[in-house]
Amino acid sequence: MDLLADDKFHDECGVVGVYAPGRAVARLAFFGLYALQHRGQESAGIAASDGRIATIHKGMGLVSQVFNEENLRPLQGYLAIGQTRYSTTGSSHLRNAQPYLIETSRGPLGVSHNGNLTNALTLRQSLLARGVGLSSTSDSEVITQMLAAPEGAWGSDSDAAANDPWAARIGGFMGVAEGAYSLVILTRHAIYAVRDPLGLRPLCLGELENGGTIVASESCALHTVGAQFIREIAPGEIVRINGSGVTSFNGRTAAKRALCIFEYVYFARPDSYFEGQVVHQVRQQLGRQLAREAAVEADIVVGVPDSATPHAIGYSLESGLPYTEGLTKNRYIGRTFIQPDDHLRKVGVALKYNPLTTNLQGKRVALIDDSIVRGNTAGPLVQLLRDGGATEIHVRVASPPVAHPCFMGVDMAGYKELIAHKLDLEGIRQRIGADTLAYLSLPGLETAARAATGQIKGYCNACFSGNYPIEIPDWLFADDRDKVMFESMWG
Ligand code: SF4
Repeated sequence: MDLLADDKFHDECGVVGVYAPGRAVARLAFFGLYALQHRGQESAGIAASDGRIATIHKGMGLVSQVFNEENLRPLQGYLAIGQTRYSTTGSSHLRNAQPYLIETSRGPLGVSHNGNLTNALTLRQSLLARGVGLSSTSDSEVITQMLAAPEGAWGSDSDAAANDPWAARIGGFMGVAEGAYSLVILTRHAIYAVRDPLGLRPLCLGELENGGTIVASESCALHTVGAQFIREIAPGEIVRINGSGVTSFNGRTAAKRALCIFEYVYFARPDSYFEGQVVHQVRQQLGRQLAREAAVEADIVVGVPDSATPHAIGYSLESGLPYTEGLTKNRYIGRTFIQPDDHLRKVGVALKYNPLTTNLQGKRVALIDDSIVRGNTAGPLVQLLRDGGATEIHVRVASPPVAHPCFMGVDMAGYKELIAHKLDLEGIRQRIGADTLAYLSLPGLETAARAATGQIKGYCNACFSGNYPIEIPDWLFADDRDKVMFESMWG
C-alpha cells in the first residue's frame, strides 16, 4: 500500500534477460532492473546460469534493497533473467517473487513474467489434476510448471515445434494461455523472449556493445546498460537467443493487436520507445489533444510531477498558456506497507508535494494530471494549490475516466475503488474540489497516440471503455480473487 499520495494504476512487472558469454550477466540484469524499477517496487530477483548450474537471489523491496555485491557475486554464468514486481498487498509475498527457477528433465528452467493470465484458474486446476504441485497463487508459477511438464502433443500447430523442444513447449503453452504475457525464460543454453499474441505488454530486443544480447520490458533498460535497441518482440513471437544467435519463431498469431494504451498514459518511462516513438513525445500529443478538447481560461499550466509533466508541456504548447512549475515533489519518498487512514493520506500528499507559492499566487491554474484512478489524491492536490495562493484550479486529465478494472497485468483496483465507476463528472469535480474538470476523450486518446506513432494497430482501452480484448471470467471480478485461487489448490 502506498501511503504517500499515489493514485495510479501500477504495471505489475518489469522483466529483463541477458545472453552474454564472458560478461557479468547478473550485473547487467541488475542494472536493467534498476532502469525498470518504475514497473514494480515490491520484489526483485535475478537468476543466472552457466549452462550447468543455475543460481538465484530474490527478495522483497526495491532492486537496490534486494541486491548487494555479496548476493550478486554467486550469480555466475552467461545467461541471466531478472524481474521486478508490483502486486496488490494481499498477494505481495516472497513466494510470489520472481523469477521462478526449477530443475526439469531438460535442465534448469527460469521464468520472469510481465502480465496476467485470465484463464490462470483453469490452467492451475488442470496442473493440480495432473499431480503437479504449486507453492503460490501466482500465474507465473503456473506458466513455469506448464513449461516444465507439458501436456500431450503441445506445439503441434506452432512452427516452433519442429526444431526446438523448448520453443515447442512455449508454442504449446501459447496455444492454451489467454491473457497478457511478456516472458523471459532461462533454459540450459538459451534465453527465450515471448510476447502474447495480442501484444498487451511490451518487450524489446537489444544488442550489447561488447557482444551479447539483451531483452527487456522497455528500451530504457537497454540504454542503461549501453545496449543498442534492435526491435520490439512482435506479438505472438518467440525469440531464442543462444550460441547460434537470435532466432525467431512464430508462436501464435492473433487477428488483432491490443498494446496497453495505458503504457503511453502513465506506465512506461518517458524515455522509452514504443512503436517507433519516444513515450515523452506521445504524452505531449495527449496533452495537445486535451488542450484542443478541453480549453480553459487560465494563467498558467501546471503538471502533477513527474508523471504528468510531458502532458502538461503538450497542453501548454497547444493552448499557448505558459507552462509553470507549481508543485515540487519529494523524490525520496518511497513505498510503505502501513495502512493509511484519511488523515494520513492528506499528510501523505503534503509529504510528497509542496506548492511553489511564488508561482501560484493570484493565478488561475490549469492542473494537468495523466490519470485519475481512485481519486484519493486529486482533492488534496487541489487544496494544496489553493493553499499556495491559486485563485482557480481547473483540472484537466490526459486520459478518459478509468471506469473498469484491468485484468491484464495491472494491479487489481476493483470496480468499487474506481471513482469514475461510482461518480459522474460533476460528482468527481465536487469530490476533488476543482473549479472545473475535464478528461481527454477515448477517441482523442487513440487519435493522439496513433498520430504520434504513425501506427494504426489496435490498442487495449478496456479500463476506459469496458471492451476487454479477451473474455474475462466472472471470478476475476470477485473481491476475494486470492481466496478463490487458494481454494482451487485443494478443490
Ligand atoms: S485495461 Fe487494457 S489499457 Fe487499461 S491498463 Fe489494462 S491492459 Fe492497459
